Amino acid sequence: MNTQQNKIALVTGATRGIGLETVRQLARAGVHTLLAGRKRETALVLALELQAEGLPVEALQLDVTDAGSIDAAVRDVGQRHGRLDILVNNAGVLLEDPSLPPSAQPLDTWRRTFDTNVHALVAVTQAFLPLLRRSAAGRIVNVSSILGSQALHADPASPIYDFKVPAYNASKAAVNNWTLSLAYELRATPIKVNTVHPGYVRTDMNAGEGEIDVADGARSSVQMALLDADGPSGSFTHLGQVLPW
Ligand code: NDP
Repeated sequence: MNTQQNKIALVTGATRGIGLETVRQLARAGVHTLLAGRKRETALVLALELQAEGLPVEALQLDVTDAGSIDAAVRDVGQRHGRLDILVNNAGVLLEDPSLPPSAQPLDTWRRTFDTNVHALVAVTQAFLPLLRRSAAGRIVNVSSILGSQALHADPASPIYDFKVPAYNASKAAVNNWTLSLAYELRATPIKVNTVHPGYVRTDMNAGEGEIDVADGARSSVQMALLDADGPSGSFTHLGQVLPW
């Protein structure tokens, strides 16, 4: 019997890139997966396409920066399924112009970056936590980046040492720290909270540049979403390899 079959997962920002592929891979593993997108129509069309491939996928409208949309999504998932087993916080933005030095990045870019990458991620997690607490084995996966690693940014020998998009980098560092806080709070529960680096993936976010395709880019999120009871909580990994904070 497929042990994933009774699980319910939700992936945010799943209308393209790594999120859409994460939905596909979770559904292929047998998990009933909610494809959450900012635009209802887009999510619906994509979910229907995956259903036509025989995959257990449903659409969900969820703009992660909109409190009303989050409340409605929580009610919707509660009514449809009564619980949530896996939450993949994948939605994210990179708004900076890398040609500008850190000191010249507009403050508004910082605000909008943090609104989506940090505040929305925390809000979505807080809102879905009651449904995750109803799961026998809740899993929260925060899609971060190696660019959130303070240790690597401080190391002149690191490959990301000169990649200074400060709002994006700081937002992912905040996601990593939030992961540690929540994992600590939930340490006595079955819920595991982990943060991952997907790799440098060819998606719209980096104008199609990157080292790997989305099939490989989704693997770290899927691995942490399907983690066994003896797996870690409060980890920062890429394909199971521990990364420096
Ligand atoms: P894309 O730009 O290809 O896709 C981003 C997704 O996030 C889209 O589906 C977009 O929806 C969604 N999104 C953005 N804002 C919102 C919102 N307010 N509400 C709901 N959905 C939203 O990015 P990637 O697939 O490359 O990135 C996915 C995650 O992986 C991000 O968190 C990113 O930071 C992280 N990451 C990516 C790397 C890479 O190399 N690509 C490397 C390291 C980390 P819409 O279509 O409606 O705009």
